[in-house]
Amino acid sequence: MGRLAQTDGLTDVQQEILATVRDFVDKEIIPVATELEHRDEYPTRIVEGLKELGVFGLMIPEEYGGLGESLLTYALCVEEIARGWMSVSGIINTHFIVAYMLKQHGTREQREYFLPRMATGEVRGAFSMSEPGLGSDVSAITSKGVREGDEYVLNGQKMWLTNGGSSTLVAVLCRTDEGHPEGTAPHKSMTTFLIEKEPGFGQVKPGLTIPGKIDKMGYKGVDTTELIMDGLRVPADRVLGGVTGRGFYQMMDGVEVGRVNVAARGCGVAQRAFELGVAYAQQRHTFGKPIAQHQAIQFKLAEMGTKVEAAHAMMVNAARKKDSGRRNDLEAGMAKYLASEYCKEVVEDAFRIHGGYGFSKEYEIERLYREAPMLLIGEGTAEIQKMIIGRRLLEEYRIQG
Ligand SMILES: Cc1cc2nc3c(=O)[nH]c(=O)nc-3n(C[C@H](O)[C@H](O)[C@H](O)COP(=O)(O)OP(=O)(O)OC[C@H]3O[C@@H](n4cnc5c(N)ncnc54)[C@H](O)[C@@H]3O)c2cc1C
Repeated sequence: MGRLAQTDGLTDVQQEILATVRDFVDKEIIPVATELEHRDEYPTRIVEGLKELGVFGLMIPEEYGGLGESLLTYALCVEEIARGWMSVSGIINTHFIVAYMLKQHGTREQREYFLPRMATGEVRGAFSMSEPGLGSDVSAITSKGVREGDEYVLNGQKMWLTNGGSSTLVAVLCRTDEGHPEGTAPHKSMTTFLIEKEPGFGQVKPGLTIPGKIDKMGYKGVDTTELIMDGLRVPADRVLGGVTGRGFYQMMDGVEVGRVNVAARGCGVAQRAFELGVAYAQQRHTFGKPIAQHQAIQFKLAEMGTKVEAAHAMMVNAARKKDSGRRNDLEAGMAKYLASEYCKEVVEDAFRIHGGYGFSKEYEIERLYREAPMLLIGEGTAEIQKMIIGRRLLEEYRIQG
């Protein structure tokens, strides 16, 4: 472990959990990540290992069989995992968001039914807001749920579900106008449905199709899919929290903790890029000395290290704020924005340090170069983060009169 990205004030338990995860990453993830990624192969063995470590239940309360850990512990584990392979952190992230939404907003019956099996990783979560025609503008959702007796009938098409194929529980955001007369603000007529399904592709239950994996430039291994609902029947007791019209707020709450998680991923990928760059710079010689001895390369390393350190500090701050029970949307937005931008820059610098070899698939930096851009988009683009940050700053610094 290097000097960068240390976290002061961790408990013995937190340190022990992190050391275990770091060891797992070094031994079980890094040696196989690039090969699996090039084959776009699902990392089944790694996922089984993480289940055994209890990572799927890290933040689920102990009364439901989880470890009851804080957002900070979780984010630091995600940082370690993303340092090994970002796709693996993606496998955990949607599961974590759905478990968090259940913990915060689920009825007692929903919590008792889902959370113990989510803690072991037996039930695996995905969440679905985006549609082919919208991502940033969640209020424009067109998928619809209509009540018929004790059920809702769902129709619509969803897009970009991380873990859409491998999950067995999907939290899906739909419009439900029932009880909300025409003219109701769009975000007050949305509902989260908890849809149970079999893993796999094709028609996974009557009215529900997961067409297949979307072919992506990076972030491979983890499946990203569409989801098509065509007369899908969902029992009324599978409305998250039991009440319609709250879906938008529930999802935004989930995405807010997800943003800390994406920031942590950016930190992990940037750390790995720094490690690769600083090692290569000492091995490669030009003009009679290691390239690390050229000031231009040292300046790059200095900038990279500073960005790794700054992003880590902001991510930790955002997680700690949430753990202390305070509102953290400003800090989470800033951390997500900064960590993802810095990640892209640090990866690019490490790529440049590798010269022509960075372009070869034999070198890990090639994979990181294709992974980093996803962080600029997922859980809200940079522009959306800046909108949130700007609005909140104006709230905080409103002038009198
Ligand atoms: C690999 C991957 C995995 C994903 N996983 C999930 C998932 O699990 N669940 C899920 O629901 N979604 C998921 N998404 C979707 C993701 O959240 C959206 O792609 C993202 O929110 C952006 O939406 P969009 O692609 O529709 O872009 P758009 O919203 O169409 O935006 C296009 C561009 O316009 C900019 N823009 C939009 N509105 C404004 C504005 N008001 N002001 C200034 N600029 C603006 C955006 O920043 C962007 O640059 C995933 C996406 C990817 C690529």
